[in-house]
Parts: sequence; structure tokens; C-alpha cells
Amino acid sequence: MAEKAAAIDALRKVPNWINGQVAASDSDRYGDVFDSATGERCAQVVMSTEADVDAAVTAAQEAFVGWSRTPVLRRAKVMFKLRELIDRDRAEIAALIAQEHGKVLHDADGSIQRGLEVVDFACGIPHLIKGEYSDQVGTGVDTWSMRQPMGVCVGITPFNFPAMVPLWMFPLAIACGNSFILKPSEKDPSCALKWAELLHEAGLPPGVFNVVQGDHVAVNSLLADERVAAVSFVGSTPVAEHVYKTASANGKRVQALGGAKNHLVVLPDADMDQVADALVGAGYGSAGERCMAISAVVTVGDSAEPLLEKLLPRIAALKVGPGMDNSNDMGPLITAEHRDKVRSYIDLGEEEGATLVVDGRKHEITKSPGYFLGPTLFDHVTSDMRVYQEEIFGPVLTITRTGTFDEAIDLVNAHEYGNGTAIFTRDGDAAREFANGIQVGMVGINVPIPVPLAFHSFGGWKRSLFGGSSIYGMEGVRFYTRLKTITSRWPTGIRAGADFSMPTM
Ligand code: NAD
Repeated sequence: MAEKAAAIDALRKVPNWINGQVAASDSDRYGDVFDSATGERCAQVVMSTEADVDAAVTAAQEAFVGWSRTPVLRRAKVMFKLRELIDRDRAEIAALIAQEHGKVLHDADGSIQRGLEVVDFACGIPHLIKGEYSDQVGTGVDTWSMRQPMGVCVGITPFNFPAMVPLWMFPLAIACGNSFILKPSEKDPSCALKWAELLHEAGLPPGVFNVVQGDHVAVNSLLADERVAAVSFVGSTPVAEHVYKTASANGKRVQALGGAKNHLVVLPDADMDQVADALVGAGYGSAGERCMAISAVVTVGDSAEPLLEKLLPRIAALKVGPGMDNSNDMGPLITAEHRDKVRSYIDLGEEEGATLVVDGRKHEITKSPGYFLGPTLFDHVTSDMRVYQEEIFGPVLTITRTGTFDEAIDLVNAHEYGNGTAIFTRDGDAAREFANGIQVGMVGINVPIPVPLAFHSFGGWKRSLFGGSSIYGMEGVRFYTRLKTITSRWPTGIRAGADFSMPTM
């Protein structure tokens, strides 16, 4: 017992980063971080207190004064340097993700790449943030507008992309002239420290980027702090809704991206080899722990049987194992608790009467000590089943059979989530109708995971996004700045006397 306590105490601690350095905390709460492929504790993360949050906000508020006045070219230079440093250390960052999250190295590296592309975009901030100018809008009157930073911005991020999702937020926020506090997921907190170190090395002044580790205590304290101007949240829908409501009620600008149930509609004319390849990657990649994972397949007409014929051998061939082994296709789930929750959905699907075609509970890998579950496939799933309605967030695909294209569209549109969706077909008219009529924020046509590139913006509809503003791209620039419009004239253009009517030109 004493031996065990000593071992836990000796574990690596994941601290806060405040005002340009690692910051001590008085917290007596620590959370365990697990190596998801072995089930062993690999670190302990500090659960920040209100005092820690206060220190971070104070540092960020002070740093904002100088940083917001720093010439935009110098802010861009920090981004150029950051991209170089992330590239230098990407193997180390991928290994951190593989250990704490469980992603296979090649997938972890891909997620770093997609985040890095937002840093690339932020390097163009001098162009992105420049305003508009209208000469002579009236006699001797000029008008121009500019975008000014918001102040202290906060990012609260989920476990499933410890690199990519923070990178969706802080590069643009900082390039726009804001200071930033990142509250990463307590389940895989180490990447956040890496961002802090790299930004420091890139020359970012102390206090512009801070990390507050922890759980709802830190989050709620950040949401209550009146010095925080804007909050970006990515996570599950119930928490997104809570963050959106609380932050809005406290007068903050807020974007809160929530959960998903992404449908892939298969028309009978689709190339079934392509559909099956797309489905194994989009359904089981990253163990289904992606907000853009395909989790619900909707077959139209007689497409289910030919699809199953192609899909089943591919599922059987999937290689499941530790993320550190790059030959694997799919790694473990994040925690034992999450693995058990996903497993309980497989139990539920059976109880609800769906046909269990592939049972991930029986996969050989589940005998290993990590948090593994094999790929699972349900057929004949109907829209009244909870396995169809709820986000499972694991390697579980469901097939719902529909008779017509219209029925498939109605099914997707009736779902409460509207993050991503895809259609596979050779029919251009059907694809066009789908793109126009579907009530979902991101649509793929023969593309299973249509995550927009950094120069577009990412965001769902319905209960997948609260607050209206998508993340990164120009939406991100707009979110992290506020518009100011100036109208000016000089003494020679001013007529004598007061004017009491509405000014017109
Ligand atoms: P989560 O909602 O449990 O946690 C997200 C963040 O909120 C974490 O930092 C966590 O510490 C904090 N948090 C958790 N409970 C809280 C509470 N009660 N009060 C205040 N803060 C709280 O999400 P998760 O399990 O880490 O991530 C998976 C979820 O994120 C899935 O639902 C997935 O779809 C979603 N997600 C969405 C997107 C998107 O772009 N829409 C992207 C990635 C993940």
C-alpha cells in the first residue's frame, strides 16, 4: 500500500503555466492521467482552484495591454516561429497524444498537421485583420473600419484532439492581439504545456498565453470572471449548452461547439469499394472518438447488401492495438470509464432489437490491459433507438435502411445534431440537392469527413453549435476581434452651427 502511494506520488505532475512559466498551485486535488494502451497511470494533473484562475486572468489582462499594441507584423512573426517549432517537435507531440489519448501515431500526426494549418493561416494576420476605408463618404468626410482584439480570451477543449482543437483557437486569438487562457481536457493535459513552451520559445511575451489545468471548477471560475471577454468551447453538447448559457449571461462573446451524430448516405449508384474504404476510416479511425466521425450509415434502396459485402472483410482486417505501434489502424479509447460507456451502448443496441453484425466486445484485443474495444457494426437500426439518437463516441457504426432518397434526407434533417454529413453517389443532381437541402453545417460529397481547411471555417448546426460563430478561418478572425468604424472630417469641412436632424450626406 505504502509502495503504491509512493509510486503515485513520484508520477510526473502536469502543472499550470501562468505569466510565462510553470506555476505552482495550492490545490489539493490532482487527477490521474492514464496511458490508454496499458491502463497505467502515467501522470497526475493539477485540478486548478479559483485562485489559480484568478492568477491566470490577472496575468492575461496585464499582458493584453502591451500585446494588443504590438505591431501586427511582430505578432505574425511569433506565428511563423511557432509553426517552425511545432514542425520540429511534431514526433514528440504525436507520441504524447498516442500515450495519453491513444491515437495511433500516424493519426496523431495528421491531427497536428490540421492544427498547424491554422497556424499557417494565422501567419497571414496582417492581411486578414486589415480594415476597410471609404474616402469622401460626404464632403470632406472619410470612414474606415478596423478590427480590434477582444481582450482576455478563453479556450476550453475536449479530450479527443489535445493538439488540433487548441490550435483551432489560440493561434488566431493571439495573432489578433488577444491574450489567451487554455483550459485543456484533464484526461490528456500534457500537450497544453507543450504549446506554452513552444510559444515562449517563439518569443511570445509572458502572460499572453496561459494554461489552467483542471475540471468544471476551473471552467466555471473562468466563465464567472468579468475580465474574460470571449470564450471558445469545444466538447459535448450538455457542457457546450451550459458554457454557452453561463458565458452569455455573464456578458461574454461565446462560441460553443458540441457533440455530433454524423450520417453517411449511400445511394445505390455509389462505388461500394469506395464507400466501404471511407466507412472503415471515418467510422473506426481514432476509435470513433472524432466529432466528425461517421457513426450512422443510411442506405437508400437496395444499397445495404452490396455495401455489407464490401464492408465486412474490411472490418475484419482492421488492426487494433496500441497507438505507439504505427502499423495499427485503431487504438484504445481514452479511459476505462469511457470504454465501459461505449460497451454499454452495444448492450443497449442488442436490447433495442438492432442486428449486431460485428461485436467489438468479443474482439481479441479486449483481453489486453488497455482500454480497447473492437470495431462494432449494427444493422437494421431504426430512428427510435437510442443507439441511433445518441452520440456514442466510440468505434460503433449503425446502419439504417431507407427506401428512398427523400426518406434519407428527412432522417438526417430530423436528427438533433447537425455537425457533419456525407453522401456517396455518382449522381450530380442528387448530390446537389443533398448539399442544398441538408440541415447540417459541414457536408461531404464522396468525402466522408469533410473537415474544412484552415482558410474556411468549422462549425455545425442545430445542437452541435451554440452561439452562431464557427471556429477558425475568417469566422475565427471575426470572433476574436470587434469591429470599430470611424467617421472623420477636419475643420475645413465642418459647417458652422448645430444640426439637430439625423445626419445625412
Ligand atoms: P466534455 O464536454 O466532457 O469536456 C469538454 C471540456 O469541458 C473539458 O475541458 C472538460 O474539463 C470541461 N467540462 C466537462 N464537464 C464540465 C462541466 N460539468 N462544467 C464545466 N466544464 C466541464 O467533452 P469530452 O468528453 O472531453 O469530449 C468529447 C465531446 O466533444 C464529444 O461530444 C465530441 O463530439 C465533442 N467534440 C466536438 C467537436 C466539435 O467541433 N463540434 C470537436 C471535438 C469534440
